[in-house]
Amino acid sequence: MTISTSATNSRHDPAGATANISWQQAVRNAVRDPGELCRLLALPDEYAAVAMRAGASFPLFAPREFIARMRPGDPRDPLLLQVLPAVSELETSEGFTPDPVNDGAAAVGPGLLHKYQGRALMVTTGACAVHCRYCFRRHYPYGSAPRSLDEWQPALEELAADCSIHEVLLSGGDPLSLTDRWLGRLAEQLAGIEHIRRLRIHTRLPIVVPQRICEELLNWLCGTRLVPVVVVHVNHPAEIDSAVAKALGRLIDAGVPVLNQAVLLRDINDSADVLAELCERLVDLRVMPYYLHQLDRVSGAAHFEVPVDVGRRLVAQLHARLPGYAVPRYVQEVAGRTSKVPL
Ligand SMILES: *Cc1c(COP(=O)(O)O)cnc(C)c1O
Ligand code: SF4
Repeated sequence: MTISTSATNSRHDPAGATANISWQQAVRNAVRDPGELCRLLALPDEYAAVAMRAGASFPLFAPREFIARMRPGDPRDPLLLQVLPAVSELETSEGFTPDPVNDGAAAVGPGLLHKYQGRALMVTTGACAVHCRYCFRRHYPYGSAPRSLDEWQPALEELAADCSIHEVLLSGGDPLSLTDRWLGRLAEQLAGIEHIRRLRIHTRLPIVVPQRICEELLNWLCGTRLVPVVVVHVNHPAEIDSAVAKALGRLIDAGVPVLNQAVLLRDINDSADVLAELCERLVDLRVMPYYLHQLDRVSGAAHFEVPVDVGRRLVAQLHARLPGYAVPRYVQEVAGRTSKVPL
């Protein structure tokens, strides 16, 4: 049984998504009002009232391009559940804390995290083009505006001084919410540091707003001596419609390896059928399933947690059904460890 196909999705467009607007415009047009989201999806008003309360500190934010892939009238839609603030977020749960991966402790310069050998991570911006309810950075103390390149100089000096770093990861927030002009200048500065060889971008933007994969992006991404790698974030096969498939194809055709990370989420992708369909869809598009993350235990996200033994069983089923390269590594981030921990 197929879950949902791009053909059915593209016919229904309640959200007013238009392919012909820029990615910036698409982000500006994103739905922020739970009442509007409920109207677009023909959901009862009580969902909006709850979302207003539950989303007070981390509000609803969902681009129309993403909403257009949801099934109207279905409060259990796997894409809707990822973005609609739910009453369970207001509950406190034992073991769920504001900074579960302890980013606070790994900061070595403003915006720079150095936890893993050979790799440093730059938190370039707090902005995202979607607010995922399970996000481990939902309580992260982001500054409001993106910082200027001048303000990044201490971090760049830190990188230049440490010859052990061969790869720089741009993370956030979502680094692709920054302009290509800014990103291009940053890439140039990084390319000027001799021991840095690879530039990795962790982003969900091409999934929620596929027009983000534009000419300007490909120009800077493929325009330095750094080897680019892009890691996208898809949790459910219904997130990939034909526009997303095309955007990913453009990146890969330009020579950029694309990997996917997913988060194991209750009622969204905690089934072998859904995960197998996701992985097959990805490899058919030449995107390699990289990680399946155990949920980070961030406050407000306890209702998304899938027990580790269930996760292990699901991954074993994937191994039985799929080629080895199509099965992601099931991992967990553990505070203080120097790599992701395999489960
Ligand atoms: C996940 C992560 C990385 C990258 O880890 P990989 O296993 O190479 O994907 C690097 N730095 C930090 C802080 C991370 O959390
Ligand atoms: S796109 Fe990534 S960083 Fe942004 S809210 Fe979603 S999970 Fe968090």
